[in-house]
Amino acid sequence: TQSLAELDPDLAAAMNGELNRQRDTLEMIASENFVPRSVLQAQGSVLTNKYAEGYPGRRYYGGCEYVDVVEDIARDRAKELFGAEFANVQPHSGAQANAAVLMALMEPGEKLLGLDLAHGGHLTHGMRLNFSGKLYDNHFYGVSKEDFRVDMDEVRKIALDTQPKVIVAGWSAYPRTLDFAAFREIADEVGAKLWVDMAHFAGLVAAGLHPNPVPYADVVSTTVHKTLGGPRSGLILAKQEYAKKLNSAVFPGQQGGPLMHVIAAKAAALKIAASEEFAERQRRTVSGAQILAERLMRDDVAQAGITVLTGGTDVHLALVDLRDSELDGQQGEDLLHEVGITVNRNAVPFDPRPPMVTSGLRIGTPALATRGFGDAEFTEVADIIGTALAAGKDADIPALRARVSALALATPLYEGLENWGMM
Ligand code: PLP
Repeated sequence: TQSLAELDPDLAAAMNGELNRQRDTLEMIASENFVPRSVLQAQGSVLTNKYAEGYPGRRYYGGCEYVDVVEDIARDRAKELFGAEFANVQPHSGAQANAAVLMALMEPGEKLLGLDLAHGGHLTHGMRLNFSGKLYDNHFYGVSKEDFRVDMDEVRKIALDTQPKVIVAGWSAYPRTLDFAAFREIADEVGAKLWVDMAHFAGLVAAGLHPNPVPYADVVSTTVHKTLGGPRSGLILAKQEYAKKLNSAVFPGQQGGPLMHVIAAKAAALKIAASEEFAERQRRTVSGAQILAERLMRDDVAQAGITVLTGGTDVHLALVDLRDSELDGQQGEDLLHEVGITVNRNAVPFDPRPPMVTSGLRIGTPALATRGFGDAEFTEVADIIGTALAAGKDADIPALRARVSALALATPLYEGLENWGMM
């Protein structure tokens, strides 16, 4: 019966601090979002108490009659939303979903071909220190030096050379859409399976603003917490023929008991993702990223040696190239932090600076779109960022911070929430 605040004031204070940080600053980390009240409620529920190893109707524990309903709802919604034959909603995270995909599709030592981490790929696509890098024989394609886009002729050449068992298409930092049909053709040509990791752009797919990889891929994995706007977690979609292997790779292959409270939160998020309101939010997300990219190409920013990779974006983020700027990625991130805008530094392809410093910034619009930003607010935040980056060390921090605060005040977050998350 004791509340968290009564039990542990120190913890409560830190959690309230985080709520206020989210309210008072502008969140532009491309992989983040704000979950709605319904998702907080589901995730903060008594379903956290329940063990339910296995799958609906085939559990290794008693008392699963209600959580079976919850998981069935989540699976049905995931299939319906993306047009998939099969869904597994149990992965605790995107990385665990990917571990299960690899376990289902290939044996240790076999060849995986993915986008180089340094060119926007993800750790789980074969990075040296990741389980994927240690278990599989990893090969990479990159973006072209000319236009910073994935060149499908190059992918084909590398695939023909390496003859991979699995090709993965998907990214953590890439501002354009991928050609899934071309990936499918290449996979067929070399006898590989095609896995698409749509973690970043799943929300855009759900809204019909981005090509859907499901018809092309053998298996599609995603996180639920990025553009899709749900709880931190993962899910897997696939053709029916992979159902058994994928289910077994998730449980007992990679995980024990599923997090039923998180699965309930996924179900709520998937219901929202099918709505017109969600599609409208995704349209504001993409439009905001395009405004951001365009505004960051203004003259004074360009004169400071700062460019936007690929000259724009098709998705929810823009990549700022600081290779010719006095600011490095760390300094750019810190400068924007000082004015109240949270972004993350990110290596750009062919980055001369080390990974802890980098020469890039990844700036995303999903969280602010959820907050209610439209074109006018995105124009203002783009101008604040442009002014800060162009001025660098001479930036007028208090003036820029005041403009950020005005935007934050005009788009209140979690109204009515008294403390960290009790709604
Ligand atoms: N896949 C991609 C493409 C990602 O960008 C991410 C997250 O950054 C993941 C997988 C991993 O997700 P998680 O952080 O939930 O493990």
